[in-house]
Amino acid sequence: MASAEFQRELNGPPPEPGGDTLRTADADSVIARIQSVIGLLNPGSTQVQMLRDALATLRTLRDDADSVTQRFLGLINAVPDAVTVIDIEGNVLEANDAACRTYGRTRAELTRLTIWDLNADAPPDCMQQIAADFAVGDVFTIEAWNTRGDGSRFPVEVHSSVFLDRGEWRVIAVARDITQRRAAEDEIRASEARYRSLLQVMDKGILVQDAQGHVISVNPAACRILGQSEDEFKDPDNRWLQWYVVAEDGRPVARDDMPAFRALREGRTQDSTVLGVYNRRGDRYVWLDVTSTPQFRDGGSAPFQVISTFSDITGLKRDSELFVQTQALARIGGWEWMPQDGEQMYWTREVHRILELDPATPTDLESFIAHIAPVDRARVRAIFADARQRGGAFEFEGRIVTGRGNSRWIRLLGSAALRDNLPFRASGTLQDITSARLREEELQRQALTDPLTGLPNRDSILDRIGLTLADRESACAVLYVDLDRFKVINELVGHTAGDSLLVAAARRLRECVGTRATVARFGGDEFLVLVESGTREDVEQLAERVVVAFGTPFRYGDEEFSITTSVGLAMSPEHGDNAHQLLQSADTAAAEAKRRGRNAWHMFSSVLADRLSDRLRIESQLRKALELGEFRLVYQPQVDLATGRPCAAEALIRWHNRVLGEMRPDRFIAHAENTGDIVRIGAWVIREACSQMARWCAEGAAVERVAVNVSYRQFLSEDLPDIVVQALREHGLPGSMLELEMTERVVIEDATDTLEIFNALKRLGVVMTIDDFGEGYSALSYLRRLPIDGLKISYGFVRGVPENRSDAGICRAIVGIAESLGLGVTAEGVETEPQRQYLHGLGIPRGQGYLFSAPRTPDQFREYLARTG
Ligand code: C2E
Ligand code: MG
Ligand code: MG
Repeated sequence: MASAEFQRELNGPPPEPGGDTLRTADADSVIARIQSVIGLLNPGSTQVQMLRDALATLRTLRDDADSVTQRFLGLINAVPDAVTVIDIEGNVLEANDAACRTYGRTRAELTRLTIWDLNADAPPDCMQQIAADFAVGDVFTIEAWNTRGDGSRFPVEVHSSVFLDRGEWRVIAVARDITQRRAAEDEIRASEARYRSLLQVMDKGILVQDAQGHVISVNPAACRILGQSEDEFKDPDNRWLQWYVVAEDGRPVARDDMPAFRALREGRTQDSTVLGVYNRRGDRYVWLDVTSTPQFRDGGSAPFQVISTFSDITGLKRDSELFVQTQALARIGGWEWMPQDGEQMYWTREVHRILELDPATPTDLESFIAHIAPVDRARVRAIFADARQRGGAFEFEGRIVTGRGNSRWIRLLGSAALRDNLPFRASGTLQDITSARLREEELQRQALTDPLTGLPNRDSILDRIGLTLADRESACAVLYVDLDRFKVINELVGHTAGDSLLVAAARRLRECVGTRATVARFGGDEFLVLVESGTREDVEQLAERVVVAFGTPFRYGDEEFSITTSVGLAMSPEHGDNAHQLLQSADTAAAEAKRRGRNAWHMFSSVLADRLSDRLRIESQLRKALELGEFRLVYQPQVDLATGRPCAAEALIRWHNRVLGEMRPDRFIAHAENTGDIVRIGAWVIREACSQMARWCAEGAAVERVAVNVSYRQFLSEDLPDIVVQALREHGLPGSMLELEMTERVVIEDATDTLEIFNALKRLGVVMTIDDFGEGYSALSYLRRLPIDGLKISYGFVRGVPENRSDAGICRAIVGIAESLGLGVTAEGVETEPQRQYLHGLGIPRGQGYLFSAPRTPDQFREYLARTG
């Protein structure tokens, strides 16, 4: 066999490209041909042996090739993307199953195509370009558009690599259809564009920070609200430094407590946090409402960024702050009531503050009513129920007890609108009016309080007694507490000490009475105790306790003062069913206690009641006695104790009443003083006495002057000098013809202008004498202070002389005082000759008494003068 023929026989026909088992079949036919050649040769020859060896090798190679081919095909068909092998000319040499699907062609079709059939955009020299740019083993990626069998185009991402196949340069290309990815990317781009334009136009500030808190992006609103540029936001050195952030209550907020950082740390949205953001440059402060939301990647457990949105609530905040401030200043809170919503109320912070409650406390109607003082609760409940039914405005003012147990006054104003189809709703205000109320009460208290002792005053206790009597069925009692001889002590130690003794007495009385009764200061040294309930025994025991308590002396400085009390008791209703009557009874009982020797209590009784009714009868008759001309004057001569000659006359009043009959001054003067009638009566006496004196002058009678008794009450009404001036002028008398006798009560009462009145009278030449000297328990200092001319020794002391040593002693002492002060002395009540002698012996120049003459009518007096003159 020729070598060429052999060669041909051996090679067989050229291989069919694209065939699956092309090379295997090829090899098999070569093997078959070699076997047939072997059959032609001598079996034992070395050529045959060589051929057989070659054949074995060939079989191995065939099997290897077969395996590689199978693996290659298996591999590329397993790839989900289109895989093609292309030669340097651009011819498609191989294609996998996915390529057939992707391009919509059979493998046979594909292996007839070129790169330009698949990618119409590929430049004509693209394969040369690849060959120039890439070495074997290089991998490169491009994106391109490919064309399917039906002419449609689709985007691909092509990963290619260059390799050598039996020395031939090849490209293997894996083309992935990226139609869907492109669409998704387009969608993302579009939504990003939408998102961006949203951020741009939104008026809320948006700030995106990464996990470390670095600012990734901000929108224009954020820049505008916080007044800084995007670059400033992103500048890591600048970002937070110039901001001072505070919470709503003004406390500074650390960086880690800002909502964004908390959202990052806690992985939870931080909703609606109000922050005050102050620029350290000082040019801006804003209040923000910030919400920060952490963002997670799919499956990520820690946020990778945080988005904060915020709006500028500075204006709102300012308004609401001003509102809150106004509420706080005015102590007015606001409330809203929506009964259909579980009786819910909404309270502003101020309401919580007024009620002294934690802001977390439930705010329904019942918990509000629970703070109303118990007496008013039913009323408030009714007010709300009524508002719910009828609507309209409503109001309540009353006391509450706050969450902390404090008592306060509130005014609640509300209005409720009833509208069809709308749920019921009432709203209004709650005002703390405690301080206004307290001021009011303080004013009231001041008006009703005695400033010295702090006790209720006369008006206040009278009111209180009236009220108690009005709304009580049971007995109530009044103790009229009169301090014995307090006026003397007041005079002795001075008013400052007197005041502090009064305060001490008030305190002692209050301690003694405790909470069982009300103590009031009724007048100078008179106190009242109102016992609103209790038996007669209780009240008497209380009176006894008061008397005993005052048995202990009071201290002032280093001195001790014994101030006892005389207490009068009266019980309602038997001793009076109105305040006036009850007090009069108590007063009468106190006077009785005093009369019986002081330092005791006395219960009002029927005897006293008789005396009282007597007094009332006298007082009522007294009122009109002057107009009815029921008074007249009698005159008692004052005589020279040496010679028995009359020198002056004392005018003594007499009253004949058609009901009461003949009344001596001892029975009615005190009443006239009580009622004040003595002032008018006294003025009449002065005029009448002057008129008589003028007659005596006209008759040439031996009367130097007329003495008139003047009540302390006349000194309390300032016009005494005027009355005297008029009387003297009317009858043309000099002042020296009139003598005024007044008891030491004048000094004790000590009206502010006593001294002035004394001086005015003195200037008129009127003779001023102290009557009943020595009985008034008064300190003697007034004798130096007031312009007094003489002393009249009381009948009480004269009576005992000369036998009674102490009376005699007193008379002597009085004479001593009068002498040393240059005062005249008159002894009254001289009834016997030994008295006259003794008194004369003491150096007393003048006397008056039955020894010389009883008081006489003017006619009788004229007779007497005629007889003795
Ligand atoms: P008095 O000013 O000390 O007057 C003396 C009183 O002693 C008179 O009583 C007189 O009648 C009475 N008397 C006179 N001599 C004797 C005597 O020898 N023995 C006794 N046992 N009594 C004698 P009278 O007139 O009843 O007056 C009583 C008091 O009434 C007076 O005491 C005087 O304080 C007051 N009084 C009388 N008239 C007036 C008056 O016009 N105005 C005022 N404010 N008080 C008057
Ligand atoms: Mg007299
Ligand atoms: Mg007298």
